[in-house]
Amino acid sequence: MADQERLVRTLIEMIKIDSPSGEEDAMDREVSSRLAALGLKVSHDSYNNVIASLPGQGQPVMLSAHLDTVEPGRGIKPVIDGGVLRSDGSTILGGDCKAGVAIVLEALTAALEPGGSNRAIEVVFTRHEEGGLVGAHHLDFSMIKSKEGIVFDGEGPPNRICVSAPSQNVVTATITGRAAHAGLEPEKGISALIIAAEILGRLPLGRIDEETTANIGRLEGGLKRNIIPEQAFLDGEFRSRDNEKLADVERKFRSVFDEVASRYREAKIDLEIVNTYQAYHVAADSQAVATIGRALAGMGLEPILESTGGGSDANVFIEKGITAIPVGIGVRDFHTTWETAVISEVLLGAQMCEAVIRGT
Ligand SMILES: [Zn+2]
Repeated sequence: MADQERLVRTLIEMIKIDSPSGEEDAMDREVSSRLAALGLKVSHDSYNNVIASLPGQGQPVMLSAHLDTVEPGRGIKPVIDGGVLRSDGSTILGGDCKAGVAIVLEALTAALEPGGSNRAIEVVFTRHEEGGLVGAHHLDFSMIKSKEGIVFDGEGPPNRICVSAPSQNVVTATITGRAAHAGLEPEKGISALIIAAEILGRLPLGRIDEETTANIGRLEGGLKRNIIPEQAFLDGEFRSRDNEKLADVERKFRSVFDEVASRYREAKIDLEIVNTYQAYHVAADSQAVATIGRALAGMGLEPILESTGGGSDANVFIEKGITAIPVGIGVRDFHTTWETAVISEVLLGAQMCEAVIRGT
């Protein structure tokens, strides 16, 4: 049976291993040796994502989490404070996604105690999920047989199941005007920052509708107080759970850039819009939802099916034909220095995962 003390110990040990995106080797070594000790066959694909399998009954189910964290995430000092785990305030906690990793490890430990039986399991721990789902995009899907699964990477308790998530397009633009001395010959300059400001002022931004958002998160430009700024750089994104609306926002973005460019013919505007992941919608009566629902029912919990505005590895898994859906891992305030993990909810996650592994 999932054990709270052992689970919290594992979670704290995982949190104390630094693993900002791109630096997952130490986490990889730790989880690989733990999975092997539990009797799983541990492999890596060419991107060094961890793929481990355990024989058992029926079609395999995939249990997934990611090994990396956002910054500031080095030298994290987790403290237990009234049933909640938090950092000392100078870093994130890293509950995203260490709670997901700890849930899977504790559930396997509990479910594989002697005398029980289990479903066939595939564990997938990806690298570099934060900032682009990079590990999932590089995952060797030929090594995975599961058609359904669970991504332990959501906010709140484990009965929060995310059945719908948006597509995301990333927008970058480089604007090149002309430098000139601001005091001696300003009329010879073309300010890239003014062009960027005109574009920013016209773009549809913020919450566009219930399932569509857009943001320019970074504007950089200029060199010195007394030089007309020659270069500006915009970095942003837009998302929608409806791909037609996504295409509509893209058209509006392009027409704003074109319209402003047409008034500054001597400037150069390079715009790039790239899709980073695809939206998904999982039916409430799908097998993956039923698997999680059965496990929750045994614990007296009702599933809550939700839509999100965020992306996760699930977007890539589902696009590749594995209906793996995110559930809550007991963590709140992802990506902040006040991030917390509610211990009772992390335990519920491990209990749910254990029930899935047992096939009960
Ligand atoms: Zn995460």
